[in-house]
Amino acid sequence: MRVTIFGTGYVGLVTGTCLAEVGNDVVCVDVDANKIARLERGEVPIYEPGLEPLVRANHASGHLKFTTDAAAAIEHGQIVFIAVGTPPDEDGSADLSHVLTVARTIGRTLSRYTVVVNKSTVPVGTADAVRAAISAELSARSSEVGFDVVSNPEFLKEGDAVQDCLRPDRIVVGAESAHAVDLLKALYAPFNRNHERIVLMDVRSAELTKYAANAMLATKISFMNEIANIAEQVGADVEQVRRGIGSDPRIGYHFIYPGAGYGGSCFPKDVKALEYAARAHAYEPRLLSAVEAVNAAQKRRLFALIQRHFGESLAGRTIALWGLAFKPNTDDMREAPSRTLLEQLWAAGATVRAYDPEAAAETRRLYGARKDLILCDQQYAALEGADALVVVTEWKAFRSPDFERLHALLKERVIFDGRNIFEPKVVEAAGLAYYGIGRGRSV
Ligand code: NAD
Repeated sequence: MRVTIFGTGYVGLVTGTCLAEVGNDVVCVDVDANKIARLERGEVPIYEPGLEPLVRANHASGHLKFTTDAAAAIEHGQIVFIAVGTPPDEDGSADLSHVLTVARTIGRTLSRYTVVVNKSTVPVGTADAVRAAISAELSARSSEVGFDVVSNPEFLKEGDAVQDCLRPDRIVVGAESAHAVDLLKALYAPFNRNHERIVLMDVRSAELTKYAANAMLATKISFMNEIANIAEQVGADVEQVRRGIGSDPRIGYHFIYPGAGYGGSCFPKDVKALEYAARAHAYEPRLLSAVEAVNAAQKRRLFALIQRHFGESLAGRTIALWGLAFKPNTDDMREAPSRTLLEQLWAAGATVRAYDPEAAAETRRLYGARKDLILCDQQYAALEGADALVVVTEWKAFRSPDFERLHALLKERVIFDGRNIFEPKVVEAAGLAYYGIGRGRSV
């Protein structure tokens, strides 16, 4: 099939590449000319495991093309995906300007029946707004070209995006048109071979499904962080509690890890957007507000532990950070807990030596050159001259460190484990003080 994708970010580029990989002819279009030029050269602007070789191979075979020419791209596609950003507006609502710009561009160009598929995360009612924007442009040029708008929210996870796209748990399709459904079923058939993964529903339910999924996951994290904070107060170890509750199949082991708070481009903005939408419809989303409030406090938790240990002023202290990305296997720093911590540490006068396997360039882009930030290219180099180590992101490479080496390098011999990746007893046996999240009596 001939497919067009608007937006070459995490969602658009991964989707376009995976659709090309199974034999479709895909054109990816972006307004960012620099991004398109890099992709044309075979450079992938984001870090996503397994993506670069797939992009290169499919670009070389001619199945995957990149352009800034929106009109030519629309001309190409039988199916046109919208996968542009929907960042939060100041009031927390989803900013739909990019989505509606694409819709208007489609309306100005469309010359034959096309299925327009919205993959961006958007509030309920956006498909109607997209349909109206396309129709308005068509009427302005007295065109009667037919089109359908489908909601097909994306559930890929950064860090596993390629695998999620090639082997999705489910493919949610919200559509009113039987023809559009048939076309999408055919498009997704290669990813839907072993058992039925397509979940068909109406458009508004599909739009809400995406927010419900992210809000549920954010709720699990905040719930577990709240239990961790209670565990700390009452002298229990949340890691034992986690295993105890996870063994109940109604609860399960997934996504109940306490930590330094959730971040990234999706959970924070999507919880806020759902809250906003609820209020706009005269419903007070008490649970969602609590999820957000717990998370905001949790992002400040590591700093509170550091200050409890070292005292209020950290002037003259050097703190080593392992992990800057909002989660492992990505270079994405959007709303990362590390950013809250960095800013708190700097405000208290500390110098930070940090190591992240992928996010150093993004950190440099965000914060520029500053005296109190030293980005190291090796994990133990971050410890040189440091008073303490803080684990902020649970990259695999951090899980089993050489504790003797940590003992030799750290001046104050203390570890703040923001992801509970170490066994407190092992750390303490190596002569290091240990602080985790919610590890009450075991510390
Ligand atoms: P992103 O910011 O990485 O990429 C968006 C891209 O769209 C950018 O390259 C931007 O230049 C481009 N763009 C903006 N306006 C455009 C236009 N008019 N024409 C063509 N391109 C344009 O965003 P992302 O992380 O890929 O997210 C895209 C959408 O998918 C969002 O709604 C997001 O909430 C949702 N989503 C994201 C993830 C994720 O893990 N990142 C997962 C599921 C859903």
